[in-house]
Amino acid sequence: MEICDFALHRPASLAEACEMGRMLGPGARFLAGGTELLPDLKQRRDVTRHLVDLRSVPGLRDIRLDSSYLHIGCLATLSEVAESSDVHKTLPALSEAILSMAAYQIRNRGTLGGNFCGGVPSADTPPICIAAGAQVRLAGVDGERTLPAEQFFLGPRKTVLDPGELLAEVLIPVQPARSGSSYQRFALRRATALAVVGVAARVALEKGRITQARVAMSAVAPVPMLAAECSGILEGQSPVEEVFERAAKAAALASRAISDLRGSAGYRRDLVRVLTLRALREAAARAGTRPA
Ligand SMILES: Cc1cc2nc3c(=O)[nH]c(=O)nc-3n(C[C@H](O)[C@H](O)[C@H](O)COP(=O)(O)OP(=O)(O)OC[C@H]3O[C@@H](n4cnc5c(N)ncnc54)[C@H](O)[C@@H]3O)c2cc1C
Repeated sequence: MEICDFALHRPASLAEACEMGRMLGPGARFLAGGTELLPDLKQRRDVTRHLVDLRSVPGLRDIRLDSSYLHIGCLATLSEVAESSDVHKTLPALSEAILSMAAYQIRNRGTLGGNFCGGVPSADTPPICIAAGAQVRLAGVDGERTLPAEQFFLGPRKTVLDPGELLAEVLIPVQPARSGSSYQRFALRRATALAVVGVAARVALEKGRITQARVAMSAVAPVPMLAAECSGILEGQSPVEEVFERAAKAAALASRAISDLRGSAGYRRDLVRVLTLRALREAAARAGTRPA
């Protein structure tokens, strides 16, 4: 099937990209790596006639670490994020999550920003970023706003972005000493298969107690979601199996899984329980071994 005709716009700055996006209206799309958008255009799942190519905008591909945040520009490719020494230092589980998804070809071209902005409920990078307390910086014609990553998603393929607004960067807070993260994913094949369920956990320990804990999930709700109930169950407790089991059950209860060709709702709920348990065990073990 041939790709439909479209006009390609190449803005020279962030401001120009936003202005073009707003001028062209809701029918226009920002183009990043194109791994999701171009197949959609070919298969007529998207009928846009205007693409605003972000790759001509300088500065959107940078990955840098300062004293408070790891900044990942929206155009950093998944491979660049996975290989970044700053990512290894701050949130190595993000690198692991990326290496568990898609295949080299897609990771070399697809971007972190595109993985968020596609708004796909099974996307692999949002859960680990949400669990780590990430924020997203959005840029539009009227200025910028920053919000918690879990508030970015509204529904399948729907985000909070207004016309002309784009995701400029993902900000991951420098993680506390003695903290660890883990992403556990189940798919029907090891490569190039969307997650049936993905669960991320982040645990911080102090004097044998859990001081901070967050669990986030993908493919079990219309959006990648934070299982907020888990934090209340885990924080203040010892990192022991019985506590992890209670949190894992709460995560399964909080999930809003549906049945589809990859698995039934009941199967997915059980996977949430099992993967949450594994993610918490691994995150806690890593927290215990991370130098303070
Ligand atoms: C074979 C195959 C396997 C895949 N496997 C996986 C997988 O295992 N896990 C997974 O999570 N995904 C997977 N994907 C989906 C996809 O590759 C990823 O989501 C990728 O990160 C998308 O990034 P991109 O730069 O290519 O986005 P694009 O295709 O360029 O854009 C996707 C959407 O986001 C919008 N957009 C992109 N960047 C921005 C921005 N900065 N601001 C505002 N809007 C923006 C675009 O307008 C478009 O609507 C797979 C895709 C294919 C084709």
